[in-house]
Amino acid sequence: MSDIEHAKRLVDESSRIVVLTGAGISTDSGIPDFRGPEGLWTKNPGAEEASDISVFLTDENARRGFWGMMRMMHQAAIKPNEGHHALVRLEERGKLLLLVTQNVDGLHQAAGSSPDAVVEVHGNTQESCCLSCSERRPIEEALEEELPCCQSCGGLLKANVVLFGEALPPMAMPLAMEAAHGCDLMLCVGSTLSVYPVASIVPEAKESGAKLLILNKGPTEYDELADVRLEGRAVDGQSRRSAFSGCEQCEQFEQQHQQFGQCDELQDELFILKHFQLLG
Ligand SMILES: [Zn+2]
Repeated sequence: MSDIEHAKRLVDESSRIVVLTGAGISTDSGIPDFRGPEGLWTKNPGAEEASDISVFLTDENARRGFWGMMRMMHQAAIKPNEGHHALVRLEERGKLLLLVTQNVDGLHQAAGSSPDAVVEVHGNTQESCCLSCSERRPIEEALEEELPCCQSCGGLLKANVVLFGEALPPMAMPLAMEAAHGCDLMLCVGSTLSVYPVASIVPEAKESGAKLLILNKGPTEYDELADVRLEGRAVDGQSRRSAFSGCEQCEQFEQQHQQFGQCDELQDELFILKHFQLLG
């Protein structure tokens, strides 16, 4: 049995899947980079420093940079991609126990994943949060001001993301851990599984008897625990076709895929995800 057939079988035979996603699933969604010429940090001096809560609290220029970055992120045309949609189909098939994400982009919900089924362990950029009274509001209101303050108490506002030096949302890890103990398959997509504490749900799930399926470009911390590990391969369309030959739907997808000019390494990962969703 090939790895991809094995992966498909794991998904088909599972009924309580916990999915853990990282930046790799969103890289193809138009999120601006940080350090490039038009990058979020390049264009907004202070924003990089403001990713540490102690700087955010004490440095007004850093806060100004942070909010400039938030405005840029919201103006960018960020859209869910095939990877996000594939995970919505997993939920529609009644197989999803919980979707745990390290991403703060809100793209799982934008794709159609139920908000109740998604745990954002590092928060999100769709809401603002008051650092004094904890009130949360849609972030659009805050983006209208250069240095927004809480409308209720006048306190400092921050996007509802977890900065370095901050605690995770209180219920995030307990929910993720409970699901890890109750799942029959842990599916990790686009994460190197090296950011803690969230990565610790992977060995916990495995110890509780779950199978482990990893889809990532490049190695991860838990490759040796994986029942199946699918690598996004940097190959040309021809050799990729031969690697997945024998599946008509897959080859059709491959043709569209090249037509859209998306033939790069990252797409391989989504291609694999698409493959077993199509077959499922
Ligand atoms: Zn407040």
